[in-house]
Amino acid sequence: MTTDLPVSPAVRRSAELEAQLAGDPGRFRVLTGDRPTGALHLGHYFGTLHNRVRLQDLGVDVFVLIADYQVLTDRDVAERLTEHVEGLLLDYLAIGIDPARATVFNHSAVPALNQLLLPFLSLVSVAELGRNPTVKDEIAHSRQSAVSGLMYTYPVHQAADILFCKGNLVPVGQDQLPHLEITRTVARRFNERYGNVFPEPDALLSAAPLLLGTDATKMSKSRGNSIALGADADETARLIKGATTDAERHITYEPERRPGVSSLVLLAALCLDRDPHAVAEEIGNGGAAGLKRTVTEAVNAAMAPIRARRAEYAQDMGYVRGVLRAGNERANAVAEATLMEVREAMGMFR
Ligand code: ATP
Ligand code: MG
Repeated sequence: MTTDLPVSPAVRRSAELEAQLAGDPGRFRVLTGDRPTGALHLGHYFGTLHNRVRLQDLGVDVFVLIADYQVLTDRDVAERLTEHVEGLLLDYLAIGIDPARATVFNHSAVPALNQLLLPFLSLVSVAELGRNPTVKDEIAHSRQSAVSGLMYTYPVHQAADILFCKGNLVPVGQDQLPHLEITRTVARRFNERYGNVFPEPDALLSAAPLLLGTDATKMSKSRGNSIALGADADETARLIKGATTDAERHITYEPERRPGVSSLVLLAALCLDRDPHAVAEEIGNGGAAGLKRTVTEAVNAAMAPIRARRAEYAQDMGYVRGVLRAGNERANAVAEATLMEVREAMGMFR
């Protein structure tokens, strides 16, 4: 699908990676994850979740991280953690993550992973941490009066998340690109100083690396502008009805000039697996009301099977929690092996 997004080096690189994936999926190991700060939304689905399942189905070894410590980057207390973690597990299962082939874990349950943060922090400067544009944006939206040390250092923690399992492919949204650069820097510098231990991972962008929310800024679970995967049809209709559009009646797809309208067009196009220009043309003079009707129908139709599976899994929470327990066991074994290698490379006494 063409979405008129600027062809950045990251977009070009993603196309190259797609070609390599088709030829040799076994060469890749994927790590991605989400913060348990709320329900997963359509931005997640089209930005990264859809890619995770596609890669899993191609035969790539996929690790999915529930980033519980990272909830504390922009708030004092991680509230309703259990509820949010269980919500993520239900969403993963509903979209098709298969626990027999993928490893789902939460990083507070994997101590060896967290220990990698210490040597990794020594590999980046304070100035490098301060320059990160995503961290700056998150500080602007933070709900804390003072910025914590964790906010500045969490991209290095993410390097530990990715490198503990030697992940070399990370399907993410655009906001994660600066963090991936830090991970690549950490891996490169570690290898230069201590010998070759880590891959330099690549980001894999989807066709929607930055889906906008109902207020026409990045759709985020913490910003009250998202449509959750698990929302029902009526709630979806209500949220889309309240979405920001503009005063022009004729509907077009022009992401730069008309971000609100174009983001709704793109959402419908993604759900219908069609070209956004064609979708806009069809709505034509239908105005914002016609656009919202099309988007609501498309979202509800695309999400119906996912929502049904989510409700089914919710009947058996014992099974759902067991998925995380088994994933944590595997993640711990992998993390301990990597930590051992790291300590050996660094010449630490054992
Ligand atoms: P929060 O507001 O709590 O930070 P979030 O909605 O930004 O939540 P994260 O858990 O921080 O979600 O991000 C999880 C993954 O989803 C990341 O790979 C991120 O790049 C991707 N992602 C998040 N929002 C979007 C979006 N609007 N469009 C595309 N990808 C997104
Ligand atoms: Mg985020």
